[in-house]
Amino acid sequence: MDGKGNNAPAIGIDLGTTYSCVAVWKHERIEIIPNDQGNRTTPSSVAFADAERLIGDGAKNQATMNPANTIFDAKRLIGRRFSDGKVQEDMKLWPFKVIQGPANTPKIVVSYKREEKEFLAEEISSMILGKMKETAEAYLGKPVKDAVITVPAYFNDSQRQATKDAGAIAGLNVIRMINEPTAAAIAYGLDNKSDINGKINVLVFDLGGGTFDVSILTIEQGGGTFEVKAVGGDTHLGGEDFDNRMVDHCAREFKRRYNKDLSENKRALGRLRFACEKAKRILSCSTQTSIELDGLHEAIDFSMKFSRAKFEELNMSFFNKCMETLKACLSDATIEKSCVNEVILVGGSTRIPKVQCMLQDFFEKKKLCKSVNPDEAVAYGAAVMAAKLTGNNNKSCRDLMLMDVTPLSLGIELIGELFDVIIPRNTPIPTKKSKIHSTVCDYQVCVDIKAKEQELQITICWGAPRGFGQFNDIFEIDANGILTVTSEIISTGKTEKLMITNENGRLSKEEIEKMIEDADKYKQEDQEYKKKADAFNALEDCIYNMKNKIKSMKKSRKLRKMEDAIVDTAKWIKHNQAASVDEVHRMKEDLETICK
Ligand code: AMP
Repeated sequence: MDGKGNNAPAIGIDLGTTYSCVAVWKHERIEIIPNDQGNRTTPSSVAFADAERLIGDGAKNQATMNPANTIFDAKRLIGRRFSDGKVQEDMKLWPFKVIQGPANTPKIVVSYKREEKEFLAEEISSMILGKMKETAEAYLGKPVKDAVITVPAYFNDSQRQATKDAGAIAGLNVIRMINEPTAAAIAYGLDNKSDINGKINVLVFDLGGGTFDVSILTIEQGGGTFEVKAVGGDTHLGGEDFDNRMVDHCAREFKRRYNKDLSENKRALGRLRFACEKAKRILSCSTQTSIELDGLHEAIDFSMKFSRAKFEELNMSFFNKCMETLKACLSDATIEKSCVNEVILVGGSTRIPKVQCMLQDFFEKKKLCKSVNPDEAVAYGAAVMAAKLTGNNNKSCRDLMLMDVTPLSLGIELIGELFDVIIPRNTPIPTKKSKIHSTVCDYQVCVDIKAKEQELQITICWGAPRGFGQFNDIFEIDANGILTVTSEIISTGKTEKLMITNENGRLSKEEIEKMIEDADKYKQEDQEYKKKADAFNALEDCIYNMKNKIKSMKKSRKLRKMEDAIVDTAKWIKHNQAASVDEVHRMKEDLETICK
């Protein structure tokens, strides 16, 4: 789609843990699209209330008043199992409820329009993606269909699949998923075209709200060719963890001072989290701040000083972990730190002075590149890729060449702990590799396909005596980093495809279709609610105007009639909140007629 037809051009979406951002190629350059509040990034939050659903700024703004029904951190849940240790850890701090759904999938429970509803992380993410789609549609004035969505480089297959499903539920055609640090490197390459001569090595250090990625790339051809050499990271490390450590610290201090435990008080925890995040940002430019919360718990006011040194002490283990990951990544890429030409900072948490200081020390006082906007670079790069994939003829898009890698080693667990790697980590993608295996015990029924370091279980079932069953296991990773496994029996002489059961709790086609229907229904309800809210607002505006008008009028029968009509209309509003949009419009017309 080139934007000349009925559809808008393809967009790039950075679906972040805490904030999301959308961009598009327009007027021969990338534009970051502001949302309806004029903000260039949108909180990745969804709130459910008695009357409406709020997404983005509206949701975040009311979070402390409605903590149990304001959902954030869906990216920390997506593609994970309920029993995952990280999910269990996070659940202790989330003010909203998560339960175990079928196939060990986590489900978020909220009260929406006074009814209990359960949502998968994919659905919550789809609501955020839907909001980004709407933001782009409002800006471009056309329906948006195609999108490139970014994911952390260290996301595994399940997390990628689930993100792609979230895109489909939002009504998007996900033309490609690219890794966040790679997208940031594209933004850097485009901005520094004229300065890139020959081949340069760049290291992208991407520390966001919930995830950490480090990527080492070479950029060539005047900023047109990007080759990822190695990636490393942690899909559960970011600003939210730093906030959590601060919240824990404050809760401990509260307990010490007042001997009261606030861990069960969701509202208090929500308020504390909000205050800590704000304090953390202040500590990036000041060395001292304070947290003040009136009536935090059992009517006790809480006030406490927080120093930058304390913040650093609380989070030092996380910062050290980032540095260890970075060193391992350099070693995987076989690149000496002295050969890194640029260190690019991406993600809001790279504003933390200690993080910058540790990086600078490690790279021996090398200047860190802060020329790309840490909050927008990822969406920027995604939009360039979107333009390229949809045939944009601009030279920068045409010349763009991207070679990415897979972050995790994939293979088969043969017997016991023996792990046979088929695709090693940092293999360029797309890729297809196969290996022949035999059954290792009589009538073996299952074999687990695993991603080293992260659990990803796909079970292949068969039954053959030991050594008799020979299988060709084919692993294929596409350009999105998504894995397909097929296994062929070769011992029988004829090649037969084996049954492969994916136990990742993936959504079926039917489930996705049902969720698309639900998403449309919620969207329609939102639109109806907005129409009604607008109609009531217009009616109240009309009352206000009429009240002003009559101020300067002399006493008369007409004036009395107008005063009565104003009082009656105000009463009507109070008692008829369930009225239809048409009824509200009619009331306004009647009032206008009387007051003409
Ligand atoms: P991102 O996912 O890249 O939007 O990053 C969002 C994260 O960056 C959140 O955890 C924010 O609290 C954090 N963040 C944003 N600005 C700052 C700052 N000035 N200092 C420390 N953390 C920040």
